[in-house]
Amino acid sequence: MARNPRYDVLFEPVRIGPKLAKNRFFQVPHASGMTNANPRVRAAFRGMKAEGGWGVVSTGACSVDPSSDDSPFPNATLWDEADIRAHALMCDAVHDHGALAAVELWHGGAAAVNRTTRAAPLSPSGVPWMATHVGFMSSARPKVMDAGDIRDLIRWHAEAAVRAEQAGFDILYVYAGMGYLPYQFLMSDYNHRTDAYGGSVRNRVRLVEELIDAVREATHGRCAVALRMSMQELRGRPSEVAESEGHEVVGYLKDAPDLFDVKMDYSATDCAASRYTAEGSHAPFVDFMKSVTDKPVVGVGRFTSPDTMVSMIRKGVLDFIGGARPSIADPFLPTKISEGREEDIRECIGCNMCISSWHDGVFVRCTQNPTAGEEWRRGWHPEIVKRDAEGEALVVGGGPAGLEAALTLARRGFRVSVAEAKREFGGRLLWETALPGLRQWYRVADYRLGQLRKMPNVSLFAESPLTAAEVKEFGADHVVVATGARWLTDLCGPNELPHGWAGGPRVYSPDDLAAGVVPEGPVAVFDFDNYYLGTAIAEALADRGLAVSYVTTAGAASAWGFMTNEQPLVHQSFAKKGIAQHPLQIVAGFDGEVVTLAQIMSGAPSEIAARSLVVVGTRAGGSALYEELVAARGGNGSVHLTGDALAPGAIVHAVYQGHKTARLVGAGPDRPRRDAAFLPADVEALA
Ligand code: ADP
Ligand code: SF4
Repeated sequence: MARNPRYDVLFEPVRIGPKLAKNRFFQVPHASGMTNANPRVRAAFRGMKAEGGWGVVSTGACSVDPSSDDSPFPNATLWDEADIRAHALMCDAVHDHGALAAVELWHGGAAAVNRTTRAAPLSPSGVPWMATHVGFMSSARPKVMDAGDIRDLIRWHAEAAVRAEQAGFDILYVYAGMGYLPYQFLMSDYNHRTDAYGGSVRNRVRLVEELIDAVREATHGRCAVALRMSMQELRGRPSEVAESEGHEVVGYLKDAPDLFDVKMDYSATDCAASRYTAEGSHAPFVDFMKSVTDKPVVGVGRFTSPDTMVSMIRKGVLDFIGGARPSIADPFLPTKISEGREEDIRECIGCNMCISSWHDGVFVRCTQNPTAGEEWRRGWHPEIVKRDAEGEALVVGGGPAGLEAALTLARRGFRVSVAEAKREFGGRLLWETALPGLRQWYRVADYRLGQLRKMPNVSLFAESPLTAAEVKEFGADHVVVATGARWLTDLCGPNELPHGWAGGPRVYSPDDLAAGVVPEGPVAVFDFDNYYLGTAIAEALADRGLAVSYVTTAGAASAWGFMTNEQPLVHQSFAKKGIAQHPLQIVAGFDGEVVTLAQIMSGAPSEIAARSLVVVGTRAGGSALYEELVAARGGNGSVHLTGDALAPGAIVHAVYQGHKTARLVGAGPDRPRRDAAFLPADVEALA
């Protein structure tokens, strides 16, 4: 199909200093969990975005020196010859598709506590990051940088720039955002210096200016130099000579870099969860940039709508449409817009499972795109599935796992039927996405249903609860059972293990609420699942006007929501809605009027009044249908269990399992490849 002319502006080439980007789609630096230990995995992951049409494709942060070491979080480096070889793979993969490759040169300063290298962390004035999350806490306090340290920092950037150019990068970032070292110089909270690098805004900008100059000179102007800055705090601070400190900083730097990349200051606002934050949320903080500088500007905001993208360009907010999450969920987003196939875009749902992967120290996982991170390891492509199959496949269950399995089976060439018991497809998404803030998550079903409905080899049967006899009678060559899991009302013991519930009045599971039960208030929600559902249910009940007490075994509400940047926003919402929190408690009893709590470590008892108890704890998978089919199969075709029925998990797990199952139906065993690092020359010599 032809491209909608309204979107032509997105495909104009734009100059970035000495380089020319072929269009305005700019995959900004983002964490991928892939380091120099996995150079082929990383090259294939980034290369896929170039194949999908992004004009610029960036790495995540790359440390310029061992004094900036983020381990055990994924820590990519540009320290030596072996690192050059590792990054060259990515640059080649990106260049193969006509895109520019960018690298984010990074020094974390006080935020990098150097657990492995054990170098003293560096900082402008010795101000530490007093992290409240255990994973980030450290008792290492930073050293105050002297003049020699500042010279070293500038030299490390210059040397890393030379290595970056050797690896093949076109655009080299200086990174002054998100609490890292150059940002620490910009901000008066961290920078109390009395020398030429501290005090006035003019002085605080000096280091960033010198880093930009050093990177440019090191590569003799052949590479473009980008400056990435966080604007949230600076924009809010008054200035004596400009509208804000943000305006003043950009005013001093307006001609220094070839490109500005602007963002927010904190992960929870920069990469905000869709539960609480809409598309384009950065705009109010960065919309002044182009009134101060003539250099091109890139910014993000979970853009998936081409109309919003065009409006950002037309309104003069941005020159490039930055994408991190939308590029993970759909590496082919630009190509789809270019080909007039907007309805094929696999839109990011803003769940932030991708961010949780970095916190977990693993390759990026995506709810919408099960192939993310598997491009090299398993050879999975997000758009192209080898047509290697024929015959008939029946998928039982039309939730996230069943729909993904059906789509991948159909792409492989099977004739696919999907039987769903309910009137609508979507499984758990149907009810869960009606909870506060979760509407966009329905995109998981929407995208798949949209694709399936267009395929001639797919039949969708709603209101079709199947028995084992009916499945047998259907006679498909392959059966995939994706019938989901059920919530239990088991409680949690002080040993953090679930244990049985003796029963009681008005004790409900999420399945009961989904079936239409409205609990009598006041309600206690006992959450030891600790992801989104317990807090979303508490909010939904509070929205109905019920008094809600939220009880959790964890130290705070939405404990795992820290991993997805949801936690601070949940707490803000709880405060607004008047939801009382009872952390570090287990429910020891409930008589229909009073919930008895016990402190999980000390056992100290307490009580709260409640007429109903909602337990969001554990789920049971398994499928009687599957068991019966396996028992009765007698060698006729294959039967597979997948999704939550195989092992209950988050939606990301169900989609991934559904995809994997579909790849394996009628095929050989799954043998993922193992990546390996290039060795430094001195280590290689020992081998
Ligand atoms: P998953 O996350 O693994 O996809 P869900 O619980 O979201 O699991 O979806 C499972 C779907 O399977 C539900 O929509 C449910 O109605 C459907 N289902 C369960 N048993 C049957 C059955 N015997 N026949 C058809 N559909 C079924
Ligand atoms: Fe978007 Fe969720 Fe995928 Fe991240 S994991 S890219 S937030 S859909």
